Amino acid sequence: MLRFRSLSSGSAGNATLIQATDGTASRPARLLVDCGLSVRQIERRLQAAGAAIAELDALFITHEHADHLGQALPLALRAGIPVWASQGTWDAALAQADPPLTQAIAPLMRIAHDHTPIAIGALLAEPFTVPHDAREPLQLRASDGARRLGILTDLGHVTPHAIDMLRGCQGLLLESNHDPGLLERSSYPPFLKHRIRGPHGHLSNAQALEALAQLKHPSLTAAVAAHLSERNNRPEWVQAGWAAALGCAPSDIRVSSRRGLGWIEV
Ligand SMILES: [Zn+2]
Ligand SMILES: [Zn+2]
Repeated sequence: MLRFRSLSSGSAGNATLIQATDGTASRPARLLVDCGLSVRQIERRLQAAGAAIAELDALFITHEHADHLGQALPLALRAGIPVWASQGTWDAALAQADPPLTQAIAPLMRIAHDHTPIAIGALLAEPFTVPHDAREPLQLRASDGARRLGILTDLGHVTPHAIDMLRGCQGLLLESNHDPGLLERSSYPPFLKHRIRGPHGHLSNAQALEALAQLKHPSLTAAVAAHLSERNNRPEWVQAGWAAALGCAPSDIRVSSRRGLGWIEV
């Protein structure tokens, strides 16, 4: 069984727990994707999910932005678990870290590559490259062998590679970051507006719908809109757009926020 739980989503912090069980292992495999919250917050939210830091098997960091990297290194040290990230993400993360932390984390460092699967017990994670203004960002497809979940946030535009990697996924956590009109009228400084709407920024609602149109199929049953801008978006607009695209009621569309969501089975 494959299931996931958004612990938090958005520029205030991102973390997603993925859990896979194959019936033979005594306990599920648990991967935490991103750790953009304090260790205490992660601990609380894991507890609410029925898990503990000590029960995590690995961490995957998509890129070095603070809302994703956050407290990943201290958390990994506390749990004594491997941390997967691209070489570029590691370079950027270690450049910000204190020397003692850099030294302590060395044995737990694992280098993730585009299209190279990572086996974590019953869970198979397959990273892939996305266009975003970080050193070497990766997003992820996760599988328990039967079902597949795609995580796709923090990208400036939808690429054929991302679509190829996520085609056929039954679960999807997809960025729908902003409404271009609200962004334009916001008080954000011009450089930030330019960054967000640029080809290495974040997906607008229309771009997310474009991706959804390419990824939808009858078995896509667990779709979640994520990484919404709190200022430059409206959850009800996203729900209306996704409902029209997927042929369901707006209230059926799940939107994650800084409060996260409950468990969703893929
Ligand atoms: Zn982000
Ligand atoms: Zn980012």
